[in-house]
Amino acid sequence: MFATALKYGLETVHGIRVTHCASLEALRQEMAAAPGCFSLAVLDLNLPDAPNCEALDFILENNVPAVVFTAAFNDSTREQILGRGVLDCVIKNQPESINLLIGAVERALTTGKTTVLLADSDTPSRAELAGILRRQRISVCEVASAVDALQVLDSGEVIDVVVTDLDLSDMSGAALLAEVRRRQGDEALPVIALSDSGDRRIGARFLEAGGTDFIQKPFLEAEFNGRIAYAAGIQKRLQTLQRQAASDYLTDIYNRRHFFLTGPRLVEQCLRRGETTAIAILDIDHFKRLNDTYGHEIGDVVLKHVAKRLTALVGEEHLLARLGGEEFGILFNGFDVQRAFAFCEKLRIELARSRILADDEELSITVSIGLATIETPESFDNYLHAADQFLYMAKHAGRNRVISELALLDALAS
Ligand code: GH3
Ligand code: MG
Ligand code: MG
Repeated sequence: MFATALKYGLETVHGIRVTHCASLEALRQEMAAAPGCFSLAVLDLNLPDAPNCEALDFILENNVPAVVFTAAFNDSTREQILGRGVLDCVIKNQPESINLLIGAVERALTTGKTTVLLADSDTPSRAELAGILRRQRISVCEVASAVDALQVLDSGEVIDVVVTDLDLSDMSGAALLAEVRRRQGDEALPVIALSDSGDRRIGARFLEAGGTDFIQKPFLEAEFNGRIAYAAGIQKRLQTLQRQAASDYLTDIYNRRHFFLTGPRLVEQCLRRGETTAIAILDIDHFKRLNDTYGHEIGDVVLKHVAKRLTALVGEEHLLARLGGEEFGILFNGFDVQRAFAFCEKLRIELARSRILADDEELSITVSIGLATIETPESFDNYLHAADQFLYMAKHAGRNRVISELALLDALAS
């Protein structure tokens, strides 16, 4: 019954896929059938055909991380089990045990996807902390100074939590915190500090300055793990919410909000590098007619198709978003007008060429594109307005075309 309730909780409430094995024999079979497929084992220490932790031995031999639950163990058994590299232990003796266990599973799955930037100038202490983190399956990026820590953050490497000693060789942990906050703005990373100073005010000051948590050394490993897992869990949830807030519900590409939020920063970076850039608005031709003929649902299929093709063609280098309805925006990352124009022509031709399968029918569409160059700092709205005017001209001139300054100059010359 416990296994059924646990499986139900993990699958339906938390969306985790679960395979249940009632014996060591079944466990062996499932592992053999799908080697390397399991990210976590949740197991009872005593199974009918494995009374002496043989199932745990088997799991650990196969390098699968484990969370253990069992009817009875005291603190020393717990320490012994944790010492073997088990991620967590939960006692199955009370009604809320199942929720504790689900919490432990969620924590274990989160830490498996977490990267900690660990800054400590003291080599033995850093090695010890890194060891504890790695035992929780956390990826660790180790640095010996604040300067190195900031360099890692600037490199764009994905870091979920910063763990720093308060007494770094080149900067205090508090100063490092201030630098991190200055660079990251409201996408604030959790920063957790450690100290072995006897002065309790140091930790209090760190928290007052916006630090996420403070751990006094010496600490219990379980306390350290609990605090890191808590910060990592919140950060993961925040990242999920940020992703959701930035993506378009229908096509799953970036939405208008994200385009307007990150676009100005991208323009600023290009102009600071001394490069010009360009912005395009792409609009599907006669989309209303397509909706009227085939229905709104087919219209949605077409929108998803266009978004998918654009994602493949535009790639990660440039900023692509659905601005609304059947309108997409592309902000180029440092293309001059010639290159951007050639790129847009390629998009137009590719989209016109691709066939869309909807309800056993093959459809095709064309698009019109307005393209504006960005050469001087102006408001982001201005750039978009310019692109929109070129789009209007493209529609007016008969659709299925790209119009920019280039096309206008060509027209004047001929
Ligand atoms: P033009 O060639 O001048 O761009 O004509 P058009 O018909 O494409 O332009 P118009 O702006 O008149 O029509 C856009 C249509 O897009 C109207 C609206 O019903 C439809 N639309 C907007 N959002 C969605 C959506 O999410 N799904 C579907 N299926 N249709 C949408
Ligand atoms: Mg249209
Ligand atoms: Mg439109």
